[in-house]
Amino acid sequence: MRILIIEDDAAIGDAIGAALGSAGHAVDRLADGRLADAALRDHPYDLVVLDLGLPGIDGIDLLRRLRSRADAVPVLVATAREELEERVRALDLGADDYLVKPFALREFEARVRALLRRRTSQGVPELQLGRLRLDLPRRRAHVDGAALELTPREFGLLEALATRLDRVVSREQLIEALCSWDTTLTDNGLDIAVYRLRRKLEGSGARIRTARGLGYLLEEDDGARA
Ligand code: CA
Repeated sequence: MRILIIEDDAAIGDAIGAALGSAGHAVDRLADGRLADAALRDHPYDLVVLDLGLPGIDGIDLLRRLRSRADAVPVLVATAREELEERVRALDLGADDYLVKPFALREFEARVRALLRRRTSQGVPELQLGRLRLDLPRRRAHVDGAALELTPREFGLLEALATRLDRVVSREQLIEALCSWDTTLTDNGLDIAVYRLRRKLEGSGARIRTARGLGYLLEEDDGARA
């Protein structure tokens, strides 16, 4: 996913930028509201992390401009302004979530994941890989038009991999993604789900590759492409 961080505090920008980068996101960073406003008009983002106190254009004004041109990109406001009125104002203007500084990086990461999950099911309704077609909102998978029978956990695994196509997804990320289906997924449980999903994907033109020590990635099967 492509994420824009608008933050004029370098230390905070560095920390959240590194966290999002290591989670496999493409991260752009800007410290000035005016530049951010231009970037938001020029590039499609999957998520915006927005500070409110900014040079150039204030974060609240930036948010107002964004929504006034019907841009529905999810916005996570992260700011030191803890006054109730500011929070309400940002939410009323179309912020999707709100974090008051200082915040725990783990909470920040969890909120980003939650916003991106919503984004995925709304913004990318269908994915095609080889002869595998994924209908994410309806949680259905087909190969050559025939329904692929998947358990909710197997579908969740496939979705987590498919929405990060050709990128390595760590075991931790997968377990996190799958915990909405089963909050007690163990390492062993993940291995079993991967094993079963791999078998079901045989001959579909999509395959799960192991990136040793890193995780898994979903990619088009070379054999099927030829
Ligand atoms: Ca600031």
